[in-house]
Amino acid sequence: MKVAVIGAGSAGLAALRHCTSGTYDTQVVCYEKTDQVGGTWVYREETGFDRYGLPIHTSMYKNLRTNLPKEVMGYPDYPVPDSPESYLTRTQILEFLNSYCDHFNIRQYIRFLHNVELVEPSTGDRKWTVKVKDLKKNTVLTESFDAVMVCNGHYFEPSTPNLKGHLIFQGQQLHSHDYRVPDIFANKTVVVVGAGPSGMDLALDISKTAKRVYLSHHLKESIGTIFPENVVQKPDIKELTEHTVLFQDGTNEPVDVVFYCTGYKYSFPFLSEKCGVRVDSNMVTPLWKHLISIENPTLALVGLPFYVCAFNMFDLQVRFVLQYWSGKKDFPSKADMLQEEADELRRRQEEGLQKRHFHMMGYNQDRYYNDLANTAGITPLPPVLTKLHNESSMRFLDNLVHYRESRYKIIDDYNFIQL
Ligand SMILES: Cc1cc2nc3c(=O)[nH]c(=O)nc-3n(C[C@H](O)[C@H](O)[C@H](O)COP(=O)(O)OP(=O)(O)OC[C@H]3O[C@@H](n4cnc5c(N)ncnc54)[C@H](O)[C@@H]3O)c2cc1C
Repeated sequence: MKVAVIGAGSAGLAALRHCTSGTYDTQVVCYEKTDQVGGTWVYREETGFDRYGLPIHTSMYKNLRTNLPKEVMGYPDYPVPDSPESYLTRTQILEFLNSYCDHFNIRQYIRFLHNVELVEPSTGDRKWTVKVKDLKKNTVLTESFDAVMVCNGHYFEPSTPNLKGHLIFQGQQLHSHDYRVPDIFANKTVVVVGAGPSGMDLALDISKTAKRVYLSHHLKESIGTIFPENVVQKPDIKELTEHTVLFQDGTNEPVDVVFYCTGYKYSFPFLSEKCGVRVDSNMVTPLWKHLISIENPTLALVGLPFYVCAFNMFDLQVRFVLQYWSGKKDFPSKADMLQEEADELRRRQEEGLQKRHFHMMGYNQDRYYNDLANTAGITPLPPVLTKLHNESSMRFLDNLVHYRESRYKIIDDYNFIQL
């Protein structure tokens, strides 16, 4: 079976590692549009477009330290090496991904500076046509594959609300995708819109240089953590005027920058309509187990779930997919897969979640991991990962400023200790 992998971030690398392990009878080619592995962990000062006219993919900022301990950030068969700290720098994670690549000798399968422009099912032969631009040569090539694993990430297409007055506001407006260093906010008054993990972390990062930071969110209760003195919580924004921001509680503050930490949209610009995958209110559908196209099961979208132990989950998803593609397991009927997706949507709606939260895992992520492992008969992920992920998320909410000082050690599949 000839497999195309799109993207050489941490998901694409897991795909390569298993496609080349010898367990499955696969030939593989990975197309990566940048000149190196690591995806969003590759820090670049530039924003906007690269020298080939393509949008800059990475959303990494200079001061980023991981928001999860390294003990849950490795791959099942390649943990992050031991070191004193649990929360690492972006550079350490990028080094780790490069060492993974070297350890499994998979760099040789990657065609760098190759941008996938189109994926579509070819007529008649149940194969896939993949159109790729060789950016250096400026030529387009077309290749045929039996299966495609899409590993293009989902933190590159900003989702920005259309706030009332955003066209008349005279200050700066910026999305976190284009944020790199706090210096740009020196002595400015900034409204951070959104209090998800990145909004909270960026409020902290920019508070070091900004005069004042308003953290605007619609969480029911005010966030319990202790922020630096110049960070003040505010409700949602009602509207922007030329130089001020009016909040829902009626307060009106002079502001220099509106900083959108409002997340990202799933985006697969290279999938033709014939692939049968669409994005509906940020739910990617119709997919079996958040992963496999129900219309065309030789198309898999790896890495969609969020609030997960990402690299571990990518590995599990890839092993799941390969069990089916290799014929070790048979797909259920299309009707059964559709029914399963509908049941999951209903269950989530009953829990009060919206469509845009369809791929959110979080506290119960082990439910998803166990389902994948049990369904495909593959080695599961140890429960301690979910336990430690949940501990870290709790500490993050309790003590944003200091939670990264904690150090952990996993002692067996079920338990960790704090050092
Ligand atoms: C600021 C930030 C902080 C984060 N912090 C953490 C953290 O602390 N812990 C954690 O576990 N996770 C964190 N994450 C989540 C992170 O996204 C995942 O850990 C993981 O790196 C995602 O890997 P990926 O391979 O799915 O996507 P990416 O890393 O985005 O890689 C996708 C790759 O596909 C390539 N590509 C895209 N389109 C094409 C195309 N058309 N043709 C060819 N190549 C293409 C891209 O160039 C890129 O190399 C963070 C994310 C961000 C943005």
